[in-house]
Amino acid sequence: MNVTENPIKKFVIVGGGTAGWIAAATLSKSLQGSDTEIELVESDEIGIIGVGEATIPPLLAILESLNIDLAEFIKATQSTFKWGIKFEDWNRLGESYFHPFGTLGRPIDGNDFYQCWLKSRAQGDNTPLMAHSPEAVLSEHGKFFLPFEARNTPLQAAQYALHLDSGLVGKYLRTYAESLGVKRTEGMIECVQQHPDGAIKSVELKNGKQIGGDFFIDCSGFRGLLIGQTLGNGYEDWSEYLPCDRAVTLQTKGADEITPYTIAKAQKAGWTWRIPLQHRTGNGYVYCSKHISDEEATETLLNHVEGEILTEPKVIPFTTGIRDKAWDKNCLALGLAQGFLEPLESTAIHLVSKTMAFFLRMLPDNMPNQVLINEFNRRVKADYEEIRDFLVLHYCLTERDDSPFWQYCKDMPIPASLQQKIDFFNVAGGLIPGTEVLFQATSWYAVFDGMGVVPSRYNPVLDAIDYPKLKMSMDKGKQAIVNIVQKQPTHRAFIEQYCPAK
Ligand code: FAD
Repeated sequence: MNVTENPIKKFVIVGGGTAGWIAAATLSKSLQGSDTEIELVESDEIGIIGVGEATIPPLLAILESLNIDLAEFIKATQSTFKWGIKFEDWNRLGESYFHPFGTLGRPIDGNDFYQCWLKSRAQGDNTPLMAHSPEAVLSEHGKFFLPFEARNTPLQAAQYALHLDSGLVGKYLRTYAESLGVKRTEGMIECVQQHPDGAIKSVELKNGKQIGGDFFIDCSGFRGLLIGQTLGNGYEDWSEYLPCDRAVTLQTKGADEITPYTIAKAQKAGWTWRIPLQHRTGNGYVYCSKHISDEEATETLLNHVEGEILTEPKVIPFTTGIRDKAWDKNCLALGLAQGFLEPLESTAIHLVSKTMAFFLRMLPDNMPNQVLINEFNRRVKADYEEIRDFLVLHYCLTERDDSPFWQYCKDMPIPASLQQKIDFFNVAGGLIPGTEVLFQATSWYAVFDGMGVVPSRYNPVLDAIDYPKLKMSMDKGKQAIVNIVQKQPTHRAFIEQYCPAK
């Protein structure tokens, strides 16, 4: 085995938003016991973006990998549970659909459940697809429980995520990382020093202090202080496909009844979110500035929210897309410095931790190692493109033409990779095998179904099955979900018993 000639002895993390503290927590946990130093620099003057309240199920695996107790985390971060997202008015005004995490029904005699449902539909059965989703039924009834408690029932495969207060998450992860030896330095970085080959040598604070390191993680948000401003990496703009470029956000007082799902309601020039936490509700309007002004978007949001308003509306501009290189020389960009796909499916925090996990698997012992870097960048881009396609799907299938924004979405060019996925689904009633890593079949079926797209046929193999038997099996599964859901506590009651905020 080769002796490492140039090991990383010190990591410097620039930025203390969610991305910075996830990086600090993950690195410090993984390198615990080694003599590697980790220093995080953040500026109180600049602060953090302070949005990012909805997550997807892989968050739970991250907490587990950090040995963080779920109930403790929920109490400390005012979190609530999320079975999925309710989409209102996306296909047509007045219509809604649900995107659940987890599975839809169970295979019948080895046949994919969705194909069974298509066959049953062709026989005249009008049962909605979501009647077979545990998460959708639990959401409809406002119920929550931990799926592992439902062993050997259709509910055991249900999946959930959290709604959380991102500021409190940052604080929680900071305490965690500092307890594992991460050093935090407060200060505004004014300039960056580079080695002759362009690699980063140190960052210099306003007070003149220089902080050097071997490897730098750029979590400086949209600024991309190291990856963009210093190393000159450009940004691939995806606004042609994802045209929303601003959001206005505000918080309201929490409601008595807390939904175990996010609401995403389509609006004239974008969509609004409603995310219930234990102590308050997060609200926002994500919009396209070509089609609505900040003032009108703010007014729409103000008219839309319920309950006492706790904060001033805050407008946040953004550009959807991805940094040309997520990793360049001795610098890895994470979070908003790496790229941003709009918040529709709550994927940003996931991308931070997935990138970190991947980086740790490829941790270089000698830099620069261009083989690792190229493969890493290829994989990160593939993750972004996969999510981009799924997000664009929500817009491009719309039948709405009641505003210029929706007219654009209906006719906009879509990525060739997505067109291929849609064409394949239309004829095969499924996903192209091996293409989707994050959002699996349930997610795509939910959006296709919610947007009124039904494949042109079901798999003829289903004709070999006795239909009454198939129908009975489907009805039994559906009823089993209802029976178990009825016995579960409401979302609020579950939280009060299991994890009320401190
Ligand atoms: P920031 O929070 O902006 O942190 C940047 C850090 O860098 C700060 O600490 C700042 O002080 C520091 N910094 C910058 N420049 C300097 C300097 N010169 N010197 C010193 N320090 C510096 N994600 C989800 O997963 N779910 C969601 O529901 C969701 N909703 C979103 C809604 C909107 C409208 C937007 C814009 C984003 C949303 N996101 C969501 C994304 C999420 O907010 C971010 O991915 C996450 O907060 C990470 O941000 P960050 O840490 O990269 O950047």
